[in-house]
Amino acid sequence: MMEENKWFPDVEKIWFNGKLVKWEEAQIHVLSHGVAYGSGVFEGLRCYNTIDGPRTFRVKEHIERWRDSAKQIRMTIPYSDEELIEAINNTIIENKLESCYIRPLAFFGYHSLGVHPLDCPVDVVIATWPWENYLGAETIEKGVSCCFSPWIRVHSQMVPSAAKATGLYIGSMLARVDAKDKGFDEALMLDGLGNVAEACTENIFVVKDGVIATPGLDSSILPGITRKSIIELARDLGYTVEVRSIARGEVYSANEIFLTGSAAEIKPVREVDAREIGAGKPGPITKHLISEFSEIVKGENSKYSKWLDPVTKMSIQ
Ligand code: PMP
Repeated sequence: MMEENKWFPDVEKIWFNGKLVKWEEAQIHVLSHGVAYGSGVFEGLRCYNTIDGPRTFRVKEHIERWRDSAKQIRMTIPYSDEELIEAINNTIIENKLESCYIRPLAFFGYHSLGVHPLDCPVDVVIATWPWENYLGAETIEKGVSCCFSPWIRVHSQMVPSAAKATGLYIGSMLARVDAKDKGFDEALMLDGLGNVAEACTENIFVVKDGVIATPGLDSSILPGITRKSIIELARDLGYTVEVRSIARGEVYSANEIFLTGSAAEIKPVREVDAREIGAGKPGPITKHLISEFSEIVKGENSKYSKWLDPVTKMSIQ
């Protein structure tokens, strides 16, 4: 029996294959396919405690991307969208969380260990925990320091790079560990052609002369839901946002850089490879977007209430 939850002692339950079970009882066989081969797909999203109560952020888009990722690795997630949203809501409520990070995960389970997985069951997990300050609380004010990783982002001819698949994260893991070893907070990764792809677990935006640019799907990025939200928000605010290839040099000479992700939210970058970005602190456009985004996730901007869904108790668990 796994020991009790020392990581987040207040979080008691995990949704596992259709049932809410105790944290320490959510267990699998060591010879599960997903353990040996990284054959899983997952999501990461947030629930915010808004002025109207707890709301998940763009949950339907996250379920859709989860299913798209599954399809790309020949997996079918054996629950309907409604069941998965109910499972997310019930897990948040059962754990008495008002704001939290949500981690849906599906992987090929225990049956046989040939690399061909299609006889394996698909195990499905939804876990929730409070995760306030990904990349560090001080980085909102101070900015993140980055280096370019020697590891390149997986190319779509090698594996479906737009899938949020567990095995693909070996690349992110190595890049992050190397960056930390060198004293940086985060690593940036190039794509197979040498253009800028993204950070280990965030998308990247660069700002030059008031114009915002971010790499497109042809740069092997994960199609981030925060990225999509920021593109829409920035355009609504009147900024020009270009989705195009970005050369490494453009990063060094940018006036501002910021990273986006469900866990990280929007994080300014203050330096890359020991070159100061702009004035070496969060720039005006980054600060503007952070402030608008934080109002949205507090439920204070009704224009974007379409991105927030209530967390209500449902019958299926
Ligand atoms: N790229 C990678 C590799 C990621 O893991 C994430 C986090 N899911 C992102 C980008 C950002 O995506 P999102 O905004 O949907 O969280």
